[in-house]
Amino acid sequence: MPKVTLQRDQIADGSFPSVCFICGREATHRRFSELGQITGRVILASPILALLSFWARILKSSRSAGESASGIPFCNRHSGYWVRRAWFIIGGWVFLAASMTVSILLTVSMEPDKRPHWTFIIAILWLLFFLPTFLIVHLASTRAIANDRESITFAGASRRFVSALNEQNDSA
Ligand SMILES: [Zn+2]
Repeated sequence: MPKVTLQRDQIADGSFPSVCFICGREATHRRFSELGQITGRVILASPILALLSFWARILKSSRSAGESASGIPFCNRHSGYWVRRAWFIIGGWVFLAASMTVSILLTVSMEPDKRPHWTFIIAILWLLFFLPTFLIVHLASTRAIANDRESITFAGASRRFVSALNEQNDSA
C-alpha cells in the first residue's frame, strides 16, 4: 500500500492528475478541497482522536460541498468511498457512546432491582462487533496517517495516482 504526501495547497487548487486516488482509473470527480485548509486546531495528542478527526472532517466536508473543482480526484465508483466509511466509523462510535449512556441510565433508574437493563446487552454486543470491524475498516481504507501545516500523508493510495503525481512533479 503506497504512502503519498499531498501538499495542502495542491488539494486546495485542484492541480492533481485526473487519476482516482483509490483505484487508479480515470477520475471524473474531485472532492474534499476543505482538507487543503489548515484547521488551526491543536494537533490532538490521542491517536484515536486524531484518527477520528480525519473521518469527522470527511463527513463535515461531504455535507458542506459535494462536487468541487479542486480537491482529491476520484473515479465514479469511488466518489463516495470516504463518505461511506466515515458514516460507518463516526456513526458506530456515536451509537456506542449513546447505547452505553442509555443503558447505564436505565439500569440506575431501575432500583431496587439492580440487574442490568437489556439495553446493556445491545451496547455490549455492538461493542464486540464494532471495535474489531472499525479497526479492519480503518486499516484497510485509503486513509490519512499524518498531517502537518503544509501537507497530509495518506496510506493506501493507488500506485497509478502516486506515479502520475511523481511524473507531474518531475516535469514541473
Ligand atoms: Zn476509483
